[in-house]
Order: sequence, then C-alpha cells, then structure tokens
Amino acid sequence: MKLKTTGLTDFIDGNKIWETVNSTTRTEAAHVHDILDKALEAKGLSLDDTARLLQVEDPELSEALFETARKVKQTIYGNRLVLFAPLYITNECFNRCAYCGFKDTNKELLRRTLSADNIRQEVSVLEKQGHKRLLLVYGEHPKFGADWIADTVRTVYDTVSDKSGEIRRVNINCAPLDVEGFRKLHEVGIGTYQCFQETYHRETYAELHPVGHKKNYLWRLHAMHRAMEAGIDDVGMGTLLGLYDYRFDTIALLSHAAELESKFGVGPHTLSFPRLEPALNSEMAYNPPYPISDARFKRLVAVLRLSVPYTGLILSTRENRQMRRELLDLGISQLSAGSRTYPGAYSDPDYDRPDVQQFCIGDNRNLEEVIREIVEHGYVPSWCTACYRAGRTGEHFMELAKKGFIQEFCHPNALLTFKEYLLDYAQAGTRDMGNALISNELKGFAAKRKNVVADRLVRIEHGERDLYL
Ligand code: SAM
Ligand code: SF4
Repeated sequence: MKLKTTGLTDFIDGNKIWETVNSTTRTEAAHVHDILDKALEAKGLSLDDTARLLQVEDPELSEALFETARKVKQTIYGNRLVLFAPLYITNECFNRCAYCGFKDTNKELLRRTLSADNIRQEVSVLEKQGHKRLLLVYGEHPKFGADWIADTVRTVYDTVSDKSGEIRRVNINCAPLDVEGFRKLHEVGIGTYQCFQETYHRETYAELHPVGHKKNYLWRLHAMHRAMEAGIDDVGMGTLLGLYDYRFDTIALLSHAAELESKFGVGPHTLSFPRLEPALNSEMAYNPPYPISDARFKRLVAVLRLSVPYTGLILSTRENRQMRRELLDLGISQLSAGSRTYPGAYSDPDYDRPDVQQFCIGDNRNLEEVIREIVEHGYVPSWCTACYRAGRTGEHFMELAKKGFIQEFCHPNALLTFKEYLLDYAQAGTRDMGNALISNELKGFAAKRKNVVADRLVRIEHGERDLYL
C-alpha cells in the first residue's frame, strides 16, 4: 500500500494546545465550580474548560469533579456497562513502536498469525463464555492487506457455536488503511474502526515510531477521515498514556474529535486512554517517560466524561481490578473482560505468556468473575448490538443519544442480552444474582416499557434469542 499524504494538513496545532494547557494552570476554585455546574447540563465542555478541569489537583475540588462525573454518567448511561473481549489475530509487525512487544526488533517474541481454523477455534471459546462483541487486533505487516483483514472478519461472523453463540459485532483495531481498504471493512460489516494516535506531540511521535508505515504521522492522523469517507460511521480514537504530557495529548485528542465533528457532523463513537503496560524488550513500557498516577488517571476519566458526555469511554484489562471498579462510576461505558493479548491465547491454558503477548494485563479474571463483581456493584452487563444492526450509528446515534435514547433503548436491551447470558452461560449463583438484578431494574420502568420488556424476557426464557428494541 502506498501512503498518499500530499495535501494532508496537520490540524493539531501543538503551540496552541500548549498555550491552552499553560494558560489554565491556575484556576480559582469558584471558576472550577462554575465549569462543573455547566458540565451538569451534559452539553460538553470547551477545550479551555476541559484544560482547566485537567489541572485540578486539590482534594476537595477533585471530589466535586468526581461527584459531577458520577451524576452525568448516571443520567446519560444509567447503570449499564457494555462488555467485550479483544481477539488478537496477528502479532507480526513491521513497525518499531518503542513501547510495544510486537515491534519488529523484538526477536524474542514468537510470531503468530491465526489461520481461519485458528480463528474459528478462538471465537468458539469466546462464544462459549458468552461474548457477543469482539475487538479484533492486528500487528501491521505488508503481507496482510485489507482483503485479508476483511476475510478474518467474515470468519468471525460465520463462526456460530451452540446455544445463542454468535458474535454480533466485530470491532477492529488495525493499522490505518486507504479509503478503498476501509470500504472493504465496511462491506464486511465491521462495527467500530479503532486506531490510537498514541501521542499528538510530533517530535515525540517521530522518536517513538522510527520505521514502517506508522512512522508517517499525517497518514495516521487522517485515518479516521478516510474511514468515515469510506462509510464507517463509528470510529474509536485514543492516546497511549505515559508517552507524553497527558494534558497535551488529551486536549489534542479532543481537538481531533472536534475536527471530525466539524467535517463529518459526528465525532468519535468511543475514546480509549490506555496506560503503558510492561512489554517484552521494551524499556520504555517498564519506565514510561511521562507516567500518569492513579489519582490523575481517575481525574482524567471524570474530565472526559464531562467534556464529551455522549462519547463512549473504554477501559481495558490493562487496568487492575480495583482501578477498574472505581472508574466505572466516573464515566466508563465499555469494559473488556477475560482478555488476553496474543494470537491463540483463548485456546491456550496458560495465560501468562510474555514470549507471545503484546503487554501484561492487570486483570486476569474470567468473564463470569467480572460479571459477578459488576452485578454486585449494581451494574447491568450488556452485550447489546442493536443500534449498529438497526443502522443507528454515527450522527444518527448521537442525535438519538442526546434525546435520552440511551436510557430508553439501551437499558432494556442490556437486560435482554443479560438474560440470554444468564440462561445460556452463567453458573447457578450468578444466574440467581442476575435474575434478581433484572427484576429490580424492571421496577424502575414506566408501565408500558415494563410490559414490553417483561414480555421479551419471557420469550427469551422460552428459547427465543437476539430480541431487541
Ligand atoms: N498495530 C496497530 C496499531 O498500532 O495501530 C493496531 C494494534 S496495536 C496492538 C493496538 C494498540 O496497543 C496501540 O495503538 C497502542 O496504543 C497499544 N499498545 C502498544 N503497546 C502497548 C503497551 N506496552 N501498553 C499498553 N498499550 C500498548
Ligand atoms: Fe506494531 Fe501496533 Fe505494536 Fe506498533 S503498536 S509495534 S504498529 S502492533
């Protein structure tokens, strides 16, 4: 693939971002409270207000920030939480990202690419655990073009196990393609196309990505433009925390989101903000140049929740159990569970494989253990894929979301998919807990909605599957 970057502009103005960050270091407490009051209206925040909140360090103001984020999260998303698992397809890569175990110079890493049969085997294992949404992850190698990626997606969708076992939404995290390549992914029905800029600081980016396609900053920066041009409505963006100053990268990420909104009428469907994790033969992954503390990380999640209230926030198993639990209340709307980070991992009895994996994970629990904890914490796990299958994506989704649609549709759909999980995959104890939660949730619905949902729950008990509103 030839990377065409002539005419592409760098719409991230680094000097302006630093000006915003530097001019907001001292913000009076009263001003912070004003911003938090504004944030409660759930209309989002300007970059300046977002930068001011990112500078909050004071414990009392931090608590006020958390309280506001909890309220906004509760109002828009309620207590539902979407679950997914990553599925690594290949760890072969010709790039040399300084922080990644898959970089080409890591000669100790065992390279693996799943065949169609391997994919079917992995998908069956995940389906038998109850997963319905997968994120396929790929290293970048000239051997693997858009046609090959599209084939792997088809293989996943075509793998159907017993009970209700089928994957209903395949999201993708692969290196940026050209418009034609993205069109191929769109045609095979991918959900979200996800790609992280890692850092928007150009000098740092250049240092960390010395060779391969990823060296080309502008090609990556315009990946979402090309994906949207190819018809992919839902895109997921992110930065890798620890590479550069998190305030700079967060404001840059939000500027990138604003650029998409102004060009295509809709910003990203999701944001991710992974922190660097240890990876084989990557000194930087063990000792990040800009480490971000747990306290700052929590504040960052709360600020993002207020800055872009309708954008999904994703948390991966890079974070440990305690951290994941705290972040749910502050704004996370999608969570990976039971994850492993190398190709073939789900068919492998051993989960600690530094010789093949991309990085170490912080939460090794299986899906059911995660679900039990979520339920104990009052959350409803959801595998809902209704919007994407009903064409409610991109701008259309955002419009509906702003009208309170998430509570009206997503919440009932969460209960319906959870019921399927309980019947098909859960152990008895989890099933009892889950059924109690569903009964309790139903009490909060208006009579008409309650009847519709209760009727569908009964139909699911009688064997119907994949019912949604
Ligand atoms: N190869 C493609 C790319 O780089 O865009 C997609 C797959 S790559 C495995 C997915 C993401 O993993 C990267 O965008 C990067 O943010 C993240 N990543 C790489 N090394 C990591 C590490 N040591 N800790 C945490 N995340 C890491
Ligand atoms: Fe390859 Fe992606 Fe890892 Fe970079 S982050 S080495 S491109 S897999």
